[in-house]
Amino acid sequence: MGAPRLVFATGNAHKISELEAILAAAWEGFEPGAIARMSDFDAPEPVEDGASFEENSLIKARALCRATGLAAVADDSGICVDVLGGAPGIFSARWSGRHGDDAANLDLLLAQLADVRDEHRAAAFVSAAALVLPDGREFTERGEVRGRLLRERRGSGGFGYDPVFVPDGFALTTAEMSPEEKNAISHRGIAFRALAPRLVEALGAEAG
Ligand code: IMP
Repeated sequence: MGAPRLVFATGNAHKISELEAILAAAWEGFEPGAIARMSDFDAPEPVEDGASFEENSLIKARALCRATGLAAVADDSGICVDVLGGAPGIFSARWSGRHGDDAANLDLLLAQLADVRDEHRAAAFVSAAALVLPDGREFTERGEVRGRLLRERRGSGGFGYDPVFVPDGFALTTAEMSPEEKNAISHRGIAFRALAPRLVEALGAEAG
């Protein structure tokens, strides 16, 4: 296999393995080595100052495409709670004030929802997947999975808000699901599968 032609704009190891599994399932012949890691490059981290998942995913992908000269993919995602008017939303990763502190972010959300009755605990995981090509073309796709929030953590898989999120139609939290089960229904799975034909093109591969 030649040098990678695609780079993924995240340092989140969970997202990297989710994306590799999603793309491996989306077309035959996909090799994880086809995607370079952001950490392989000395790329500056852009300020995520967009007002939507789509804007922020494009900001990340554009910056990495510019820095590497490669096609760049990014995902911006979060949890949107109905009773909070869609928050934490794009602020999900830094809800507690400390970027990437999953435990503190989840503790704060559970405390904020302590008095909210079960029937009002609906929420959705949302992901915008972006692809930016060196020739300037840009694509985004959105994926969403609706569910409800528990009061206590359950399960040890996944990351972030997974231990309290039960997708509609399921009894398990996304932290209790296998990676395959989660990827089959997840917001990121939906968004990246929709983007897959463009990614295949960017990698110069044949869809399986
Ligand atoms: P981003 O990396 O800036 O897109 O932030 C995503 C944040 O949203 C993460 O830090 C998690 O808190 C939350 N999040 C996104 N996707 C998931 C998921 O699949 N499970 C649980 N939490 C998620």
